[in-house]
Amino acid sequence: MRIFDPHIHMTSRTTDDYERMAAAGVRAVVEPAFWLGQPRTSPASFADYFDSLVGWEPFRAGQFGIRHHATVALNPKEANDPRCRPVLDLLPRYLDKDAVVAVGEIGYDSMTPEEDEAFAAQLALAVAHDLPALVHTPHRDKARGVERSLAVVAESGVAPGRVVLDHLNEVTVGLVRDTGCWLGFSIYPDTKMSPPRMVELLRAYGTEGVLVNSAADWGRSDPLLTRATGEAMLLAGFTDDDVDRVLWRNPVEFYGQSGRLDLTDLEHAAADPPIGTWAGNSILRGGS
Ligand SMILES: [Zn+2]
Repeated sequence: MRIFDPHIHMTSRTTDDYERMAAAGVRAVVEPAFWLGQPRTSPASFADYFDSLVGWEPFRAGQFGIRHHATVALNPKEANDPRCRPVLDLLPRYLDKDAVVAVGEIGYDSMTPEEDEAFAAQLALAVAHDLPALVHTPHRDKARGVERSLAVVAESGVAPGRVVLDHLNEVTVGLVRDTGCWLGFSIYPDTKMSPPRMVELLRAYGTEGVLVNSAADWGRSDPLLTRATGEAMLLAGFTDDDVDRVLWRNPVEFYGQSGRLDLTDLEHAAADPPIGTWAGNSILRGGS
């Protein structure tokens, strides 16, 4: 089973996770820029974070034979903090980078006017940079958040086929299904979707235009739930080809729209990862 996790925050995960993911068949990931828990107080913190998403983290993933791309944005929650608003001016320089395959995560957290403004401004950046957009849907008041997100997307002029609405569930999937936007689902250990619930939705709505991710971060989450979903699909009678479509070909098609997805030489990278040591020590710790 080859797996592309289209939404995972590796910054908050350990090398044990990379090792287990590689062993489970994860060959590629996309890491969206997001909220880090601790509020950031200046755009400079974001610049360092974005640099690590396009520099350090792809290098770290590469040590385990996993290809890493990123999406960058001012996340919905911090869009409310006036100290963070100038991040919008930093974005164009990152959206030009080869490792960046979409604008995201954008969208709503509390549905404030500030979030409205940042959401629309960043969809305009997606148009200007010819990139797809990853839209986070709020965890509270979800149905209304999805409806408003769809209205903002429709107004933006971004083609629906270049937008994914993420963190959908049984309540919201029907709102997005016929809009032409991609359907994103985050599989979590005890909130949001579970593998069995995901299988039921795939039965009801089919495999076309569906992205399944672990959205693993610093909260309770599990980077192997993509694999668990693939296994649950097989047990439920889906074919290997169905699983490959959901866990590999769909994310490749979605992010491939950026024209920047580099999946060359992946099998070799996975079979022979360049885990680096020097004189028996990890070279990755700056000498400590
Ligand atoms: Zn996320």
